Amino acid sequence: MKKELLYEGKAKRVYLTDQPNQLILAYKNEATAFNGKKKAKILGKGRFNNLISAYLFQYLAEHKVSSHFIKQLNEEEQLVERTEIIPLEVVVRNLATGSIVQRLGLKEKTVFQPALVELYFKDDSLDDPIINDQHALLLTDLTEEELDLIKGTALSINQILQPLFEKAAVRLVDFKLEFGRNQDGDIILADEISPDTCRFWDMATNERLDKDVFRQDTGDLLTVYQEILNRLEAIK
Ligand code: ADP
Ligand code: UDP
Repeated sequence: MKKELLYEGKAKRVYLTDQPNQLILAYKNEATAFNGKKKAKILGKGRFNNLISAYLFQYLAEHKVSSHFIKQLNEEEQLVERTEIIPLEVVVRNLATGSIVQRLGLKEKTVFQPALVELYFKDDSLDDPIINDQHALLLTDLTEEELDLIKGTALSINQILQPLFEKAAVRLVDFKLEFGRNQDGDIILADEISPDTCRFWDMATNERLDKDVFRQDTGDLLTVYQEILNRLEAIK
């Protein structure tokens, strides 16, 4: 049962439930970019992110990666395990684009083999700065072993999702993960995995099938999110 609003973020609302260790995530019909500086109402976006995220969490569970996901409740909401979010954004990159190209002057589409893992400090007021492992240990309550586990899990998730998206003729370019500590003290995958938090490129044409179409005004967000969902449903 949905109780009071615990937190309203840019992409989701988080509600308490009658179970102390469960939350409801309600995906909003709103898109933001550049740390909230660009914003738009997009009716139907919440549904796509909810369905795509639920699909991917279920797929990961079938491949022995557990997450906070418990079940999909309706078109825009899912029930999840409550965690204390670790304030890190864990980014995995297979191909160079976005901030890494700006930061390091790399050529667009440089292939990372093995994939890169980067850590950002999740703090909007600081614009989520990139940090190293020692900074992460300083800024969180993680042990070194837990940080290694998080980075290893992020790479395993990449190994599981890359072939899935390949089957859907989609290149998994990069993505962002968040982890949280549950009531038992264990670190689990949390938040969302969706076209808001991943870069998906069509394998044949490199057409952008993710939030970059909104960031750069290069296409219709609902059309490309629908395309990702259709392709995932088709390979089920
Ligand atoms: P933001 O806070 O960046 O604007 P969202 O709009 O996606 O992001 O808000 C959802 C919030 O819920 C995020 O702060 C995210 O870290 C948090 N969250 C996601 N999963 C869980 C979970 N299982 N337990 C507690 N908090 C969570
Ligand atoms: N990302 C995210 N939330 C953030 C920052 C990045 O979900 O606050 C995702 C983004 O969608 C992309 C990946 O992480 O899939 C790498 O993003 P990048 O660092 O290139 O940042 P950007 O160019 O989006 O600013």
